[in-house]
Amino acid sequence: MSKPLYHVVSLSGGKDSTAILLGMIERGMQIDCILFCDTGLEFPAMYDHLNRLERNIGRKITRVRCEQSFEYLMFDTPVKRKADMPFARKYGLNQTGYGWAGPRMRWCTSKLKDGPRERFLRSIREKYDVIDYIGIAADEGYRLERKHNKNSSHVHPLVEWGWTEADCLKYCYDQGYDWSGLYELFKRVSCWCCPLQSLSELRQLYKHFPELWSKLKDWDKRTWRKFRADYSVEELETRFIFEEQRLADGLPIKGKTFFSELKERLGTVESN
Ligand code: SF4
Repeated sequence: MSKPLYHVVSLSGGKDSTAILLGMIERGMQIDCILFCDTGLEFPAMYDHLNRLERNIGRKITRVRCEQSFEYLMFDTPVKRKADMPFARKYGLNQTGYGWAGPRMRWCTSKLKDGPRERFLRSIREKYDVIDYIGIAADEGYRLERKHNKNSSHVHPLVEWGWTEADCLKYCYDQGYDWSGLYELFKRVSCWCCPLQSLSELRQLYKHFPELWSKLKDWDKRTWRKFRADYSVEELETRFIFEEQRLADGLPIKGKTFFSELKERLGTVESN
């Protein structure tokens, strides 16, 4: 005998999942749980947005969180590593913590998002068949091709409604949600410290969020893994300062001269 259905809206707080939530409420669709996995790494404006959303819709947002903090996992947790791994050859075997996430090692996604979420849903699944409403926009069809998005219990309302990412943002703006301008600066809004952000997003972080940038620099100094393959946070800062100087002088921030002068400056950073 099949179990009753339990409708869960997976809310990241971003424009797409916010649009799903508001759109479902507008359509009178059943929602049993609004689930937010809190990494502790959202921009302050995102936490404000979630609190405001919760107040406005008059429904509770269920917040789940990993028992261990990002900082503990990044710097201090003991990690067993095999001596013959490239990591051990490069950094030794005594390094604790997972370090910055990389393109092939997004430990924070599994530890801080997927794990707490699955632990929460496990107990619900004992009694219900969970239907998961996921924020993939109509113009992100490529994401539907990924294996984990082909789960038969996943529903993609934005695709069904034909709402693109731009439609979602406009719909949220029209409803009075503007994330204090975050989407004016960033195409995607996720963990502020993510090393997988684009260079342009990191430039915005440097320019507009000096306190977070300072924390980023501090964290980068405390971990064994370089922030990005091409730049440490301090090197990025050197680049951004250099860019500002060049722009003030009316000079381009690309091309051979720019990069050879940047290389010289970065050489100075490395030798400090
Ligand atoms: S957005 Fe970046 S930092 Fe945040 S969980 Fe995903 S990979 Fe990790």
